[in-house]
Amino acid sequence: MQSPQPSPALRRIARGDLCAGCGACGGMFPDKIGVEMAPPGFLRPRQRAPLTAEEEDSFSRFCPALGQKVEARGRTDHVLWGPYLKMRTGWATDPELRFSGASGGALSGVLLHLLESGEIEAVVQIAADPENPIANRTVISTDRAGILAAAGSRYAPSAPLARLSELVATGKRHAFVGKPCDVAALRVLSAERPEVAAAFPVLLSFFCAGVPSETGARAVLAALGTGPDEVTRFRYRGQGWPGRATARLSDGSERSMSYHDSWGGILSNHVQHRCKICADGTGKAADLVCADAWESDARGYPVFDEAEGVSLVVSRTALGARILQEAIAAGRIETAPFDVGELAAIQPGQRERRRALLARLLALRLAGQPVPHYAGLHLWQAARENPILRNLKNFLGMARRVLRRRMTGRG
Ligand SMILES: Cc1cc2nc3c(=O)[nH]c(=O)nc-3n(C[C@H](O)[C@H](O)[C@H](O)COP(=O)(O)OP(=O)(O)OC[C@H]3O[C@@H](n4cnc5c(N)ncnc54)[C@H](O)[C@@H]3O)c2cc1C
Repeated sequence: MQSPQPSPALRRIARGDLCAGCGACGGMFPDKIGVEMAPPGFLRPRQRAPLTAEEEDSFSRFCPALGQKVEARGRTDHVLWGPYLKMRTGWATDPELRFSGASGGALSGVLLHLLESGEIEAVVQIAADPENPIANRTVISTDRAGILAAAGSRYAPSAPLARLSELVATGKRHAFVGKPCDVAALRVLSAERPEVAAAFPVLLSFFCAGVPSETGARAVLAALGTGPDEVTRFRYRGQGWPGRATARLSDGSERSMSYHDSWGGILSNHVQHRCKICADGTGKAADLVCADAWESDARGYPVFDEAEGVSLVVSRTALGARILQEAIAAGRIETAPFDVGELAAIQPGQRERRRALLARLLALRLAGQPVPHYAGLHLWQAARENPILRNLKNFLGMARRVLRRRMTGRG
């Protein structure tokens, strides 16, 4: 059902297919906007009542679909990776967290330290939805068991901000773990609203190549010769590094496929449009960010052979740097030096998307499509790192997608 007075911001977002699915609009205006699954399996806002002019204004500032602003404020500001203080590799010293984590379980190790030290009272994070094991739900963890259960990356839609008002009302101090877009929205809200800043004093993120639809996960199940009705548990990876996408069936048997086949062969083909024009896949608004610190082969490509997990740990703020130091001192995290010069080689997806972004945005603008407004994200400098032909290829590829969408209704 359409609202009688649809929000102009929501209309623009729908027209440009710009929604990232963070849920912030639903979290801020729970009586007016719901966050629901929409075809082909993405979390999207549904407006139930008109927003006031003031709400509309606020929405336009915090919604990451509409744009993002990054300020270096004296930090090293890398064209591709954004502002940071330090990059290290790291892993949880707790062997179960390290094994269950997506890479080295560094995020989970930091979360455990934050709880144990009393810096925060609870963690807002994403875990498998017991009612639909390929999907996600937002959970509030207050102990190691909760953090362990949520460890690992889940390549499916998540809207951790959809419960924002409810969480602020608890009066508790939370660490928030979210995609870069989730954290960008929360950072804007924290800067504008003291009650939000008090509820979420620590913001953590991870590198994100994009959110695949639930259809993507169903395609993985189909390739494993099963379907959602037969599956009782589903892990996208973890239990090793990178670990296998693994479905447990109702008869107790398991079927799995490699990370290379599940993410590279299937899920990455189901990523939403907004993520293809994302200027921040690396959590530039977060205090601390983790990623895969892949080894690279002789040609400089990342190697996905199973190994003991190692995360990249990026301290972006003084708070993030302090928390990491304290987690190391408390014996929850071990780290090793990392040369930022290696990052472009081991994160080819992030590297190429940043360099291609300007060409893609230009194609959309010329086709009259709305695009996010980016400030401080070095779009021109990143594009200059690409050969002209590759920029042209990205420009034409995006123009073709717009045409196809206009002709078929599908992108
Ligand atoms: C959609 C997606 C795309 C990614 N793309 C990249 C990439 O391009 N390059 C790269 O290096 N890394 C990427 N990652 C991150 C990577 O998989 C690891 O999360 C990262 O290496 C940190 O690992 P860790 O072992 O330290 O984290 P862990 O200790 O395993 O902790 C992971 C944390 O992430 C949370 N989480 C898991 N799934 C989601 C989700 N869908 N939404 C919100 N929170 C979630 C969990 O609740 C947990 O708190 C991606 C992750 C996701 C979910």
